[in-house]
Amino acid sequence: MSDKNVFQRIIDREIPAEIVYENPYMIAIKDANPVAPIHILIISKLNVESLDDEEVHDGNNPFHLGSLLKRAAKIARDLGIAESGYRIVFNTNKDGGQTVPRLHLHLLAGRQLGDMG
Ligand code: 5GP
Repeated sequence: MSDKNVFQRIIDREIPAEIVYENPYMIAIKDANPVAPIHILIISKLNVESLDDEEVHDGNNPFHLGSLLKRAAKIARDLGIAESGYRIVFNTNKDGGQTVPRLHLHLLAGRQLGDMG
């Protein structure tokens, strides 16, 4: 039984996903249970669990976080949803609603999104 989380299994091609973008540091996939017409996950390939991980606070990873955000913005433009608008969400730990322990962001668009919370 693998103790890898589901995102690592997708990265390792052990389970399928609809891949939108990939480079050595991240993979972007369509969410399997979308909450908006466009729901893309941009997932770090680094061994970082969340924004609360020490790796994020060590002074080097701001570059990685920036590249995740820039890629989300680029995908939004490529999909033609930048002007109509989108939301980026980083769920973090239990109260933040994080279910998969690997740093990732949600790119949500395609409908008027409601209030946060
Ligand atoms: P979190 O709740 O950790 O912020 O986000 C995890 C997301 O991963 C959820 O939106 C969930 O629908 C998605 N997800 C969970 N398992 C899979 C899977 O096997 N494939 C894909 N494409 N998405 C998944």
